[in-house]
Amino acid sequence: MRRFRLLLRWIPLIALVSLGCGREPARVDNPGAAKLRVVTSFLPMQAHTRAITGDLAIVEQLLSGDTGPHDFQLTPSDVRRVADADLLIVNGAGLEAWLDDLIASVGRPGLQVVDASADLRLRKNPPALGGTDAGEPGGNPHTWLDPVLCQQQVRTILDALRQADPGNEAAYEANSNAYLERLRDLDAEFRAVLDPLPAKNLVTFHDAFPYLAARYGLHYVGCVAEFPEKDPSPAQLAALLDAIRDANAHVLFAESGYAPELLKRIADQTGAKVSELDTLEIGQGDASAYLDRMRANLAALQAAFARPRPQGP
Ligand SMILES: [Zn+2]
Repeated sequence: MRRFRLLLRWIPLIALVSLGCGREPARVDNPGAAKLRVVTSFLPMQAHTRAITGDLAIVEQLLSGDTGPHDFQLTPSDVRRVADADLLIVNGAGLEAWLDDLIASVGRPGLQVVDASADLRLRKNPPALGGTDAGEPGGNPHTWLDPVLCQQQVRTILDALRQADPGNEAAYEANSNAYLERLRDLDAEFRAVLDPLPAKNLVTFHDAFPYLAARYGLHYVGCVAEFPEKDPSPAQLAALLDAIRDANAHVLFAESGYAPELLKRIADQTGAKVSELDTLEIGQGDASAYLDRMRANLAALQAAFARPRPQGP
């Protein structure tokens, strides 16, 4: 919230800029232009925002296709899309490392940037297995993968939307209340499914699930890569193999399309199977995308952690 409050100081300036740059005539020409224009960074932010606004605002997702937020490269057309927006909604927590460049390129001092993680307490990145460094500086950015923390993100997005578009405040609030209830149901499902399961050892492809692991009592053994595009060093790989054997982890969670050969090699050397867990970093967000894809993750975790019943006599 700190960043958002700071940015709100620019509101009088936004009003002046809006009056001066001819936004009003555009609304006369095209009634659709009267709607609030929002750009979100990637799938979870888009899904939450769409769930709150419905059709009352124009909500566009900056990252689409097969690019994730860790390896996104800004293009001039991205800058133009944000230049036309009233609000830019990001996960924050350092995930969108390109954000400062984007804001500088847009060059509009009044652009409101909503950092959805601003009110969250971040977890530190664990030191890389087998490495000498103490982990990436700052907190782990994957806050959205915790169905409880994401409820605060939704409330932060709601606050920004109703301040930017007070005419639709009541609808935004009603929509967000309904959405928050669905997120609470999702959290209850995760607890109901995962609580009874034993030995929930989590080995993931990249360091995306510390919040989910902490929330549901999963034992975080380690990850293969700090970022999707960063291969482990030989020492890190050796340490990971040891950690997997020590924890007797029998499933590795891969991400679609990333390093399948490396994962197969690790699986072959440890006897673990490969399953898939979705970081929600790639793909297009509609209003149910977050809920749908997190439920698919829950199903994957359930299948991986459910051990075959011992044979009876
Ligand atoms: Zn990530």
